[in-house]
Amino acid sequence: MQVLLVDKLLIGRLIERGGKWYVVFDDGTSVQVILEGLESSHTGSIVLVENESNIRLVTSLPPVHIAIVGIEKIYPSLTIALAAAIVQAAWAGLYPPTYLNVISGPSSTADIERKRVYGAHGPRKVHVILVDNGRRSAAKHSVLKGQLKCVKCGRCQWECPVWQQTANLWGGPVYGGPMGMGWTAITLGVREASELSMLCLNCGRCDQVCPVHVPLTSIIRWLKQQYMGEQ
Ligand code: SF4
Ligand code: SF4
Repeated sequence: MQVLLVDKLLIGRLIERGGKWYVVFDDGTSVQVILEGLESSHTGSIVLVENESNIRLVTSLPPVHIAIVGIEKIYPSLTIALAAAIVQAAWAGLYPPTYLNVISGPSSTADIERKRVYGAHGPRKVHVILVDNGRRSAAKHSVLKGQLKCVKCGRCQWECPVWQQTANLWGGPVYGGPMGMGWTAITLGVREASELSMLCLNCGRCDQVCPVHVPLTSIIRWLKQQYMGEQ
């Protein structure tokens, strides 16, 4: 397994075609990728949680599996990564999740004399691309570092009276609602997120439901201060 650390996917461009995502490399070749539910741990394992089985299908069929992982999703142990996946599913309203997959390298078999041999029915290669895109800077920021705990369950969105009216039209281009503003500030910049924060009603419902205690209202209050300071 090869692991790369890149700031903004310098090895290729991430594009969408017909609802599917691809990395297109400089030489014109491309590969399809999956962008959801990834965590890895000290074993190098990738934990995938889902219900539809589309992830299970496309991670086992191709000869090469490329996983793209935000570095905040690297957990210190496989046990904690599994717990994070369960929490994500449960707070999204899907407990227990239908599928939990642990991928620890290329497909393998130990059918003969219990010796592991790589290269069975699934992918022959597994690559992990670690994406920074503002996360390391956020980890040093007194306010934004709280957003890095987010497991992206989406529960804060459900509870937010503003998001209930706007859905993902509010919060940023990738993640909407309460958690979206923090992620927009980290990945696109504080200026992009600060104006969005002014729509927040300060009701505090998002803070109350977050399973990992992301300080959402503190982040949003800080973004409002940045916006007001610019006016
Ligand atoms: S505090 Fe703001 S972001 Fe959080 S639920 Fe209330 S309106 Fe939504
Ligand atoms: S901020 Fe909390 S509630 Fe919102 S998506 Fe992240 S983990 Fe879930």
